[in-house]
Amino acid sequence: MHEQLKLLISLQEVDSAILSIAEEIELLPRRLEKHKAHLKEASASCEKIKAKDGELNKKKKQKYDELEEIEDKINKLKAKSSEIKTNKEYEAHLKEIKTFENNKNRIEEEILSIMETLETLSEDKKLKKAEEDFKQKEKVLEEERNRLHSEMEMYKIKRKDVVRKIDGEIYEKYMSRIKNSGGIAVVQTQDEVCLGCHTNIPPQLYNDIKNNEDIFTCYHCNRFLFYPPHSEESSLRPKASELTGREKKSD
Ligand SMILES: [Zn+2]
Repeated sequence: MHEQLKLLISLQEVDSAILSIAEEIELLPRRLEKHKAHLKEASASCEKIKAKDGELNKKKKQKYDELEEIEDKINKLKAKSSEIKTNKEYEAHLKEIKTFENNKNRIEEEILSIMETLETLSEDKKLKKAEEDFKQKEKVLEEERNRLHSEMEMYKIKRKDVVRKIDGEIYEKYMSRIKNSGGIAVVQTQDEVCLGCHTNIPPQLYNDIKNNEDIFTCYHCNRFLFYPPHSEESSLRPKASELTGREKKSD
């Protein structure tokens, strides 16, 4: 393969990787914001529950007071039992006790129900978990940021090395294509088609390109063209992320 063409392909690979890494770095703050929003939601929900919790505890205390009052009344009524003279009076007396006891049962059930609800309101734990999750995710993102930056540095060094070997005029053309063609200046050809713009390539030109012994450009999109010597090995297609096989994180 033509030496300069080989260098152009390498340069494109490096630039696509740099572009892809830059995109990922740019997305990091947004990803952190998303985690922050989740934490905020958990915190708001916790505040709401805490307010409800206070309300229920107040209600529980009221019910206990009511219960005490009723128990007091029942005891007083029972103490009076011996003073009752007639059967009729006694029946009325029992009925009165029964009514108070029914009330007492109802209040006891209400207290039980309040306590059950209070048990389910363990939001504090949930918030703590959300906070821990956030810290963990923040740490992961920070590590990722560091990794991306060092990867970027590595590619920049590699780039300098490649650029050093490229003919000045060819490099100028390359840079102008990169700026005007969405970051893709070197593309492969396949079945007489430029994979950068999908325009047909005249058969004679295609045959020349297939030899990879000279530098050719697409007459339509102006990108440098090459024919992958071993099709499956080369991956220079017009998408930066595809170029490097890097995958976008989407959490
Ligand atoms: Zn083209």
